[in-house]
Amino acid sequence: MLKKAPFFSLLVLSFWGKAQPVLQDLAPHTTEHHQLVTALFQSLAPRPEVLPVQQENWETWQTVENYTFGKDRGSLPMIADLSSLHPYFRDKVTQLIAICKTKGIDLKLVETYRTHAKQNEYKNMGKKYTRSGGGRSKHQYGLAVDVVPIVDSVAQWDDYKLWKKIGAAGEQLGLRWGGRWRNPYDPGHFEWTGGLSSYHLANGLLPRLPHTYYNACLEEELAELNEGWQAWEVEQATIARKPLASAKTN
Ligand SMILES: [Zn+2]
Repeated sequence: MLKKAPFFSLLVLSFWGKAQPVLQDLAPHTTEHHQLVTALFQSLAPRPEVLPVQQENWETWQTVENYTFGKDRGSLPMIADLSSLHPYFRDKVTQLIAICKTKGIDLKLVETYRTHAKQNEYKNMGKKYTRSGGGRSKHQYGLAVDVVPIVDSVAQWDDYKLWKKIGAAGEQLGLRWGGRWRNPYDPGHFEWTGGLSSYHLANGLLPRLPHTYYNACLEEELAELNEGWQAWEVEQATIARKPLASAKTN
């Protein structure tokens, strides 16, 4: 390698000698030259990476794993995303979270929209989870939510004083609060149906919105929401059919 060094030096020098006049010819830099150099550098620049495939809205919905909030909620992940709720109800829940925040209460979403597969899982887990089978819960129409207050990173399921404050705030917003129920007592649950029953909802009726509510994009939002719900139904039905790799022991 060292022996070859003088040869290379000569080669570089001779090349430099030949190149000098060319470089001098091009100086001073004209606009044309500048454009050529810019084009050259641009052609040498690394090509931008292939853009990621645009995700559908429903694919970005947050989910919560079992035991995240200290309770057994079954093996299917819970959808816990405001985007999965009916727009009117979503605004109410957003307000509830904001109002609680002003009172120093940190509310977290445990579950929003619920698929038939998830509802049936709860049904099979027993009466303390739900009395309703697939199609009978307001969660399945994006019209119910489960929340829990967090203090020092710990979910406060049994703080009745705290639940009363949260329940009162929700009721003031016109929401129905599960803390009024006895079987099961469900203080984290809030729902709104515009006066419709589960039977109406199961038959495809849409809740009537208050006259004061205006949303120019409501139809598009509902259509997109329906697509997302259907897609999640397929997702979770597929997961539900798979045998569990290992049974949870915690
Ligand atoms: Zn609920």
